[in-house]
Amino acid sequence: MPEEKVVSRAPAASPTQLDFPPIRNGVDYLLSAVDHLGFDRTDPRGIKYAVLHLHAAAEVLLKTRLVREHWSLVFDDPGQATERAFRSGGFKSCTLTQAVVRLRNIAGITITAKEDEALGDLGRDRNALQHYGLTHNARAVEARAGRVLDFLVRFLDDVLLPGLGLDETNAIGADMVRVRDRLTTVRAFITQRLRRLNGDLQGREERTVRCPHCEQLTMIAEGETNRCLFCRAVDTTAEMMAYVFLGTPEDAGSLIGICPTCAQHTVVYDTDLATGDRRPFCFSCPGPLPSTPDAPPTDTARDRP
Ligand SMILES: [Zn+2]
Ligand SMILES: [Zn+2]
Repeated sequence: MPEEKVVSRAPAASPTQLDFPPIRNGVDYLLSAVDHLGFDRTDPRGIKYAVLHLHAAAEVLLKTRLVREHWSLVFDDPGQATERAFRSGGFKSCTLTQAVVRLRNIAGITITAKEDEALGDLGRDRNALQHYGLTHNARAVEARAGRVLDFLVRFLDDVLLPGLGLDETNAIGADMVRVRDRLTTVRAFITQRLRRLNGDLQGREERTVRCPHCEQLTMIAEGETNRCLFCRAVDTTAEMMAYVFLGTPEDAGSLIGICPTCAQHTVVYDTDLATGDRRPFCFSCPGPLPSTPDAPPTDTARDRP
């Protein structure tokens, strides 16, 4: 991701107000993002602006917490930070990835691996949109944006809002009500769409796995290809194995094994992949595996969240 100039102008403030948080600015971006997500779901421009504004919201909100820790932490290189540059906004700001690392390591803020991953996906979607327009599957982009939206509302509730003064809380109160309201609507849309897909999924439960793009349990393994009914992503089985491999923590051992039925290297031991506790699962075989499958490789792998 290219380095960028600071997106939010530091407030012209007295020394005592140096930690003044531009939370209102971040919440404003968030509001715009949820409006675009919840409005016309067939409009690619809506998704584009939802992603751009969600990314801007993430930058402002995460950096707000960094500024509370110390204003120099929003600089690309905190060692070169000067108060004058901070006040004028004329400095190279850290990236979202750097902000996450500093929040964890310096401010002691919990950001889960899933949340970090969702932010990374959003960054890639934003870059792609800026350079090439919407070339990715709109529904997958939308589903990924929804995950970041969930995270940012959680971040506001757990991290930012508790430290706010009464004035600031009141100033963003109405906007937060609207953001929460819209979040409920966005979630409801997902539930509604899943309900509509129920009929198509019926009878194919044994072949349904979790989609790596939209995270819904709506991907049908058809042997060589895997199609998601929710976001319409299509992956080859080799691509699916790569996703499983990349998503496996190093200490969990291998989650991919050889199939006793078809001898392909496409058996996945991962309960997170499928509904219920069906496991292991062969992507190449048309039906379920025989009832005496190999045990999952390690307990860690089985207990993976
Ligand atoms: Zn999907
Ligand atoms: Zn097989």
